[in-house]
Amino acid sequence: MTKKIKTFDSARKRLAKAVKYLKLSEDVEEQLKYPKVSISASLNIRMDNGKLKAFQAYRVQYDDTLGPTKGGIRFHPSVNLDEVTSLAFWMTFKTAVCDLPFGGAKGGVCVNPKELSPAELERLSRAYIDAFYPYIGPHKDIPAPDVYTNAMIMGWMANQYSKIKGEHTPAMITGKPLSLGGSKGRTDATGRGAFYVLNSLEKKLQIDPENTTVAIQGLGNAASSFVRLIHDKGYKIVAISDSTGGVYSSDGLDPVQLLQYKQKGDSLIDFPIMDNQNIISNEELLELDIDLLVPAALENVIDKNNKEKIKARVILEVANGPVTDEADEYLVSQDVFVVPDILTNAGGVTASYFEWVQNKAGYYWETSEVYERLKKILTTESLKIWDIKEEKSCDLRTAAYIHSLSRIAQAIDDAGTCEYFSKK
Ligand code: GLU
Repeated sequence: MTKKIKTFDSARKRLAKAVKYLKLSEDVEEQLKYPKVSISASLNIRMDNGKLKAFQAYRVQYDDTLGPTKGGIRFHPSVNLDEVTSLAFWMTFKTAVCDLPFGGAKGGVCVNPKELSPAELERLSRAYIDAFYPYIGPHKDIPAPDVYTNAMIMGWMANQYSKIKGEHTPAMITGKPLSLGGSKGRTDATGRGAFYVLNSLEKKLQIDPENTTVAIQGLGNAASSFVRLIHDKGYKIVAISDSTGGVYSSDGLDPVQLLQYKQKGDSLIDFPIMDNQNIISNEELLELDIDLLVPAALENVIDKNNKEKIKARVILEVANGPVTDEADEYLVSQDVFVVPDILTNAGGVTASYFEWVQNKAGYYWETSEVYERLKKILTTESLKIWDIKEEKSCDLRTAAYIHSLSRIAQAIDDAGTCEYFSKK
């Protein structure tokens, strides 16, 4: 399914909306116009059959006003520069939403990692560091996992970086295995963070968990922990999908059963359904008559073609950029609450920040401390964003951009604006 959407143009429109609500110096818009650094490389690796194969790879550092840039590396066949630039742009605002001392970046390799052997995957991961080594580092740019990359890949990358540098440098990347300097609580932090965001907005959104039906698109790392947490809280999960398709039951599903099935390496489209269950496509899942829709897979899945078919009253963006700008405007006009990605999935990068702090200090925290700090940050920021929405009478996404942009703008202005420098 290829959709021709210039994701970055759509991403920029969100910022333009927020700008209208703020009195910003000209410098702010100028500073945020283009990515600061945008690099592509060819990763040429030897495959197990002896052949040499080239993979296109990218790293985009969008803005570093608030600190070293931060953002994951994605291994996916649809990775391209437009996508990586948009993701780096979103990271810039995501780190600022949580007041983290980071800018925003993203990386990606155009590859289907499922087609690689473990040894090929390791070579590709190390080749990524070989190519981008001069641009990354604990005080320059700090990668992390994203779609189809995981803790083991982060461990290989940390090891490759440390080898080149000639010293142990765990803080150059986050999301590592615990034994290699990872943080407790990092693996489930994105899903848990989304759960904290939902918890803190439940009353405002008039959500009563026991009477709320939910459909979740995607069953990756973030969705897996999110789904367990909302199931335990009593939400009625009626549909879950992976990249192949999903399972639906109006009576509700047991996500633990589906997760166990997936863990064996099977696809949900082959799930042995019972009488009251149906196999549905990913498109059908989005259009179900439910209360809460959770797109947790890839970007641009709700667009001009299906926006009018969405029936959910609340959309929680666990994925990055699942709703296009055009669809977003329509949904807001229909009084649908879209809880934006830069808030909803900020738990991952927040726990990454904790990992970076622990690596630098050489002192490691208990899981309870990670969860407590994560909850505090996400609850506080969610409520601040809700208040901005009320005060400015705007939608939640615009409020989140106003909130994060104010922080970036303050830092830009504190370095001196045009007004300051042109004073006689
Ligand atoms: N890839 C995740 C995201 O999109 C995590 C980034 C990070 O931890 O730096 O937020």
